[in-house]
Amino acid sequence: MAFTLPDLPYGHHALEPYIDAWTMEIHHGKHHAGYTKKLNAALEGSDLAGKSIEDILGSLDMNNAALRNNGGGYYNHSLFWSIMGPNAGGKPSGDLADAINTAFGSFDTFKEKFASAAATRFGSGWAWLCVHKGGKVEVCSSPNQDNPLMPDVGCGGTPIMGIDVWEHAYYLNYQNKRGDYVSNFFNVVNWDAVSKRYADGK
Ligand code: MN
Repeated sequence: MAFTLPDLPYGHHALEPYIDAWTMEIHHGKHHAGYTKKLNAALEGSDLAGKSIEDILGSLDMNNAALRNNGGGYYNHSLFWSIMGPNAGGKPSGDLADAINTAFGSFDTFKEKFASAAATRFGSGWAWLCVHKGGKVEVCSSPNQDNPLMPDVGCGGTPIMGIDVWEHAYYLNYQNKRGDYVSNFFNVVNWDAVSKRYADGK
């Protein structure tokens, strides 16, 4: 059973002005579609075919570049679309807000740590908010299409929120101004979706 490109849960224009429609069209319709296609090609004939993407990444052979890059790309973008939305932003509430306050002291300090992880990831990659069993949250980043589900990426737990800092995610609208893209990202975070991931992952 092959993986399929998930539909965007909103229109291409929905995240404007923070993320522009053209970027969304190319990012979802070309980049994510490409990772999906190449993931399926990498799995063809393998005994991993039919497993969940989480299982595949959790026991990944990190020397398998095709599976690492495209399995990561498939999972990371699927997560990314799901934790953004129109009429979003603001702050988390409930258990997730408590976990963020426990780990970072305040929501503002969390935002600074997350933005710093995104800003200082050299080249291409992702910054993450992850939850560990028991409910502790942490911020980290990973290169390329790696993610915290993979073995030994120096970043653990289950990712519940992430930002793509590859240039393809922001260059059309922001050019080299990654910091502006990262601070605007907080205007489109769907905290209900992140909270649900937190509840499922803790
Ligand atoms: Mn991307």
